[in-house]
Amino acid sequence: MYDYTDFDAAFVRNRVAEFRDQVARRLDGSLTEDEFKPLRLMNGLYLQLHAYMLRVAIPYGTLNARKMRQLAHIADTWDKGYGHFTTRQNIQFNWPKLRDVPDILDALADVGLHAIQTSGNCIRNVTADHFAGAAADEIEDPRPTAELIRQWSTDHPEFAYLPRKFKVAVTGSPNDRAVTKAHDIGLRMLRDETGAPGYEVIVGGGLGRTPMIGKVVRDFLPKADLLPYLEAILRVYNLSGRRDNKYKARIKILVHETGLEEIRDLIEAEFQRTRAELPPVDPALLSSIEAAFAPPALARRPVPDLSRADAGLRSFIDTNVMAHRDPDHAIVSVSMKPVGGTPGDATSDQMRALADIAERYSHDELRISHEQNVILPHVHRADLPAVYDALRAAGLATANIGLVSDIIACPGMDYCALATARSIPIAQQIGTTFADLDAQADIGPLKIKISGCINACGHHHVGHIGVLGLDRAGVENYQITLGGDGTETATLGERTGPGFAYDEIVPAITRLIETYLRLREDRSETFLQAYRRLGMAPFKDALYAQERRADAA
Ligand code: SF4
Repeated sequence: MYDYTDFDAAFVRNRVAEFRDQVARRLDGSLTEDEFKPLRLMNGLYLQLHAYMLRVAIPYGTLNARKMRQLAHIADTWDKGYGHFTTRQNIQFNWPKLRDVPDILDALADVGLHAIQTSGNCIRNVTADHFAGAAADEIEDPRPTAELIRQWSTDHPEFAYLPRKFKVAVTGSPNDRAVTKAHDIGLRMLRDETGAPGYEVIVGGGLGRTPMIGKVVRDFLPKADLLPYLEAILRVYNLSGRRDNKYKARIKILVHETGLEEIRDLIEAEFQRTRAELPPVDPALLSSIEAAFAPPALARRPVPDLSRADAGLRSFIDTNVMAHRDPDHAIVSVSMKPVGGTPGDATSDQMRALADIAERYSHDELRISHEQNVILPHVHRADLPAVYDALRAAGLATANIGLVSDIIACPGMDYCALATARSIPIAQQIGTTFADLDAQADIGPLKIKISGCINACGHHHVGHIGVLGLDRAGVENYQITLGGDGTETATLGERTGPGFAYDEIVPAITRLIETYLRLREDRSETFLQAYRRLGMAPFKDALYAQERRADAA
């Protein structure tokens, strides 16, 4: 676990003290809301529909038990006893009182957490593969890279006021679990023909109003060149990105309007200049960061045969347990999507249970995934029965990872000031409709993603089935996209046609799933594979044929 240096700790404390003073001035009326807004946003504090919302960064999604328990303590002391894990490896508290926020930030600082750069037009919390350091398919742990970027980008004077927010994701595996192609910059770790480590650099991806899949701007960037190259990209963006229209200000628009070749030339020219000026990263610093992410000492114990375990445990292992690089160990994904629950919500008791389980069975490590689940990255296979029992006792043993009810949903109109429709109740209804885990296992891998407005925090564009809630003359209306994919084969979903009313959207999704079950070649063909083979037509028919028949009558 990487611990902040004394420099980091002092920086965070100073920021809290500064914000405490700003909050006091807002409370006594000497700052207006307009004056206060940029100050609170610099500290991750939003004003939502019903209350303030504090967004806390979980760098590269990694936590230990102490940090998780502190999040539980914050939820109990200053919120309503729960928190919400987001698609960007953050946790949000939805009900803090303004006067309490400095105390919350101090409590976060006590365990090396903060809310800096979780908002505003700056480089946001750097995200990474949630299986980092444990995955069987990993080339290299991406978290030292993410931590280096965090150190470089925090309070970077030149990039504090970019044209728009800026998101970076890193993966160390060929199987992309960090959605790198839908970020402003995506970094995929590679080795060249001599075995030297480096990155494929992807630029200009993003979802939201104008979704785009990122483009490869550099096939191979040697590791040592990372910071000058990032600095070059950011400098080109900062100077040339549009500031006249917030909807056209993201780097994806700049890349699109300038063209990949031209933007590459601009970046490369800037890179040559920057490399000459920016001192290389101190190798001692780099190795101290890498040492902090060294894999834990894994125990050698006999691995039991669990093939005769009870059905509940077996289905949990089939669905929620993934290959670890050490064959005696496993990665356990804990679903934060119980049937009828709010995707990504965890009560303080659940946070404490997860902390206890991680401490006892997972080398004191936890991860938050962009899919709003929690990962126990290093569990010995002999401990799987005990982990399953402990999760079950905490209401956290739902065996639905990657299945129809493992839905990403943004907060939507239940919390978000920008929402045009509800997301959470749609996810809950789909979960309830497909509550039967055997039926879910039969349907197989299926990613449903729901956003409550065009900003696409629920990543609906890259859902196999994407749902976008909009407002049509004061009435909620839901558009469906099909065939989206957020992995290394990233694709944007295609719109099916007219949207559906609130009470029609879950039946419409059910019809899509029934169509897939009817037309798949066999159980091994997933929804996405079937869609790619069959195209839109049969699914469109299932969605709209009834209406066409009614029109013809
Ligand atoms: S997609 Fe829209 S409604 Fe959902 S969290 Fe983002 S801004 Fe809010």
